[in-house]
Amino acid sequence: VTSDDAQWLIPGIGLIDLHFQGVPHVIGAYVVPTDDGVALVEVGPSTTLPALRSGLDVLGFGLGDVRHLLVTHIHLDHAGATGLLLREAPQARVYVHEIGAPHLIDPTNLVRSATRIYGDAMETLWGAVVPVPAEQVTTVADGDVVRLGERELHVLYTPGHASHHVAYHDAQQRAVFTGDVAGIRIPPAANAFPPTPPPDIDIPRWHASIDQLRGLRPERLLLTHFGAVEEVDTHLAEVDRHLDEWVESIERLVRQGKERDAIVEWLESHVRAQMDAADSASLEPAFALATPYGMAVDGLLRYLRKRDEAR
Ligand SMILES: [Zn+2]
Repeated sequence: VTSDDAQWLIPGIGLIDLHFQGVPHVIGAYVVPTDDGVALVEVGPSTTLPALRSGLDVLGFGLGDVRHLLVTHIHLDHAGATGLLLREAPQARVYVHEIGAPHLIDPTNLVRSATRIYGDAMETLWGAVVPVPAEQVTTVADGDVVRLGERELHVLYTPGHASHHVAYHDAQQRAVFTGDVAGIRIPPAANAFPPTPPPDIDIPRWHASIDQLRGLRPERLLLTHFGAVEEVDTHLAEVDRHLDEWVESIERLVRQGKERDAIVEWLESHVRAQMDAADSASLEPAFALATPYGMAVDGLLRYLRKRDEAR
């Protein structure tokens, strides 16, 4: 492990690169030392537990020092390792939105729906998904304050990407742990894109959540995919814009009678063209790992179907 894999971003907030599928800058976990043990924001999937362990080691900690696991939502790339990790950090508490909590405690449905999406690749991508003991789970809701010794993180309910998504605001450091609601940016690429997997993409709620982030006037966004963004307003505006562009384009392609696979091809070439234009073509594979194009299209098609049914 080199120092690129685990570093202090600012005093009191460390970032570990989990090297998902051997690729840098795809999935990160944040380290927040407190006078009540180490807190992690996001833990990644079980397959990257060795990278989490060695990253903590670089920063001077072990998994046994971890007392708090805060997850923004339960998707496997953010929280898949939670149950397995607790075996090595038996004192730790897990913080998750109340809608997500039952699926950490009994991951049967979560694993079933992920298997529908990933099939044979499940084990390679995510590894084991182990139940989290209910007595170690603390549910959080909008406006809650998570006290970590003398440090505090404020909970913001930020649906749009997932119905149970929260962000954690560190007011003292003027930083927000944004999970997926502030989109994906693979550094050093300048492009920012939204991850839009099924099943509960909701575009108006997503925009409203981005507005909430903006309202905090943070100095930096801490993305899970990947790292710190200091050009906060430009970044959030680009995520907003891409959400609307993708929905409008996909609606048009559906009206033209295009099938799902043709729409996936469109999205892939659209993203590639923009990354090319920003001289970031080499980072496109990392982006596609963070949000596969087929999944992104399926999530948006499902959103459009649900929206039209509701009308
Ligand atoms: Zn997600």
